[in-house]
Amino acid sequence: MAVVDARVMRTVLEHLWDQYPSDCRHWFNDIEAIDIDSGTIRFLIQEPVQLRYLQRHCTNQFTEATQAATGRLLGIEFINSEELVNREPEHIVTGTAIRTEHDGEMLLSPDYTFESFVVGPDNRLAHAAASAVAQQPGRAYNPFFVHGGVGLGKTHLLQAICQESMRNTPNMQIYYTSCNGFMNQFLEAVQDGEMSSFRNRFRNYDLLVVDDIHDLSKRDTSQEEFFHTFNTLYQGGRQVVLSSDAPPNEIPDLEERLTSRFGCGLVANIERPCYETRVAIVKSKAALRSLTLPDDVAGYIAARIDTNIREIEGAITKIQTMAMLDGVDIDLALTKKSVGNQIKLNGPAQLTIQDILDTVSGFYGLKLTDLLSKRRHKSVSLPRQIGMYLARKHTRFSLGEIGGYFGGRDHTTVMHAVRSIDGRRTGDNHLDQDIAQLESVLLED
Ligand code: ADP
Ligand code: MG
Repeated sequence: MAVVDARVMRTVLEHLWDQYPSDCRHWFNDIEAIDIDSGTIRFLIQEPVQLRYLQRHCTNQFTEATQAATGRLLGIEFINSEELVNREPEHIVTGTAIRTEHDGEMLLSPDYTFESFVVGPDNRLAHAAASAVAQQPGRAYNPFFVHGGVGLGKTHLLQAICQESMRNTPNMQIYYTSCNGFMNQFLEAVQDGEMSSFRNRFRNYDLLVVDDIHDLSKRDTSQEEFFHTFNTLYQGGRQVVLSSDAPPNEIPDLEERLTSRFGCGLVANIERPCYETRVAIVKSKAALRSLTLPDDVAGYIAARIDTNIREIEGAITKIQTMAMLDGVDIDLALTKKSVGNQIKLNGPAQLTIQDILDTVSGFYGLKLTDLLSKRRHKSVSLPRQIGMYLARKHTRFSLGEIGGYFGGRDHTTVMHAVRSIDGRRTGDNHLDQDIAQLESVLLED
């Protein structure tokens, strides 16, 4: 058995960041190369979720990087401290017990933690409740029900609860599953005549997290089974966490006894994130990959991705890859080049005032709150007037409605802004160019 020189790990990491930046995460720096034994190198990872991420996604990359670093083709083994201790004879294993026999099926992403979750006005309640649940499962809010549109962070929050609880109480029986996962296991158990072991398992978790519970809609026998699972857990003081695309009473074809139970703890909504939240999310996603994005780059991406946050990750990966291939730093020009075509705002038909607010504030480097404020300084009032002008020209909203969106101004203010910008556009080249550029961003399809 040979101890691994520290330089090896450094070279492995360099190779990985160089060749596979989109697979790399900032916590890779905490990975330790332990030893090389019978042609296998062992890497030590503390967090179980990180361990599984590496085992699932990174074996080939590590094989290649290790070969580059040592000149040898070695087998790769990712282990946690428990396994490390286990191998040494006469050592008693304590502490981090294996959580559940089905632990291996629990697909948690190491990216979905509370640390990487950005809190904004749109998700504050959901986040606060989730964090309370993770601190005191079964006691804070039970059940905890979170709902919101696609890509707004429900799965992220649910998995963060699991990871935080695992960290706080390593022996807790935790299970995260999609609703479809629950239903499939139920149907399999029925087919195989193994209902008692199914029930035994599901009714003994300390924390059961079921994602996308709206999928229970119309599934009568699954609803029945889930009802009993829920009751057993709830009555036993175990924590249940659910997510859905709609609040309990708006899930179609769901039995009323389920609706009422789902709503009896805390129901929290996640709204579409505002511009500032999106900028912070972009930065958080970049930080996971050890990237620091300039403000204008983060603003550019955030202004163009407003409905589904999922697209942010794709955009960052693409920018990161481009920067690496070209051997340049990430700046606005590179960003436009790499993702300008991929991520687009809605076409004119769906153009909303929120799009305009976001784009104008991003373009002028202002906060949305500035744009909506009473401030009259030219640096704020001109962009605000341009925004009103664009809203009047490219949406069907009335002057009064536009005024409402722009911080509650009345229709005469909007009318004045529209006329003033319209008039000045012809004589002021600089202004005309700014507006043309904003329009091209807003209107391209
Ligand atoms: P949902 O389950 O609601 O459809 P996800 O949890 O899958 O949405 O989120 C989609 C993507 O957006 C994920 O990459 C997630 O990390 C990210 N995301 C959403 N909201 C936030 C947030 N507030 N902070 C950080 N990332 C977020
Ligand atoms: Mg989800």
